[in-house]
Amino acid sequence: MATDSPRRTDSQPMNYVFPPPPPVSVPVRSGPRFPVHRIYCVGRNYAEHAKEMGHGGGAPPLFFLKPADAVLAVEEGRTGELAYPALTRELHHEVELVVAVGEGGRDITAAEAPRHVFGYAVGLDMTRRDLQARMKQQAGPWDIGKAFDQAAPIGPITPVAQAGDIARAGITLHVNGELRQRGSVDQMICTVPEIIAQLSAAWELRPGDLIYTGTPAGVAAVQPGDALEARITGLETLRLRIA
Ligand code: MN
Repeated sequence: MATDSPRRTDSQPMNYVFPPPPPVSVPVRSGPRFPVHRIYCVGRNYAEHAKEMGHGGGAPPLFFLKPADAVLAVEEGRTGELAYPALTRELHHEVELVVAVGEGGRDITAAEAPRHVFGYAVGLDMTRRDLQARMKQQAGPWDIGKAFDQAAPIGPITPVAQAGDIARAGITLHVNGELRQRGSVDQMICTVPEIIAQLSAAWELRPGDLIYTGTPAGVAAVQPGDALEARITGLETLRLRIA
């Protein structure tokens, strides 16, 4: 009987033309690893950052994606190494709260959203700003600016129960010890439950989805050799060196 199902249900061993890559995963504080399904990102979710990008008040937040294998997972207590990417002369940092989705669904309401969250992590939405700006001028897709290899550094995930009151957590980013970005999760235009509601109206969320929730003001360029320290109250610090 023919079926349109994209999933194989027979028990034959699967053969591949080359070995499939190992699953992308992120460490979890004191627990097994979190396998990554997709990376969703929210743009313009903090008013002051929307302004610095040239948008007046009222420009609504927007969504874009990065490929799952753009994850650069940094283990607990370690410093990640990000190779300065090709084609850009303006690699920007954007420190962000990352939501790790533990339970999927469609049309999740904001009230139901909290039970879909497994945990939180500190992430960096690294951006080839010059290439993104060129695409904005052309009204083209942002992928070349946002979706390159290693574009999604992330620290260990802290399960919800250990993360404290994330809705009021502070966010900072230091580069070579100097404060570059400072904000607070309560400055978000779309809160985490609202983001989950909007995303799940557009896509079916799955366990393993990561959501980068937007950056506060202060984004700027980094150079090879720079040391980045991204912090959110209650979560593991993310340390990264630009190689
Ligand atoms: Mn961002």
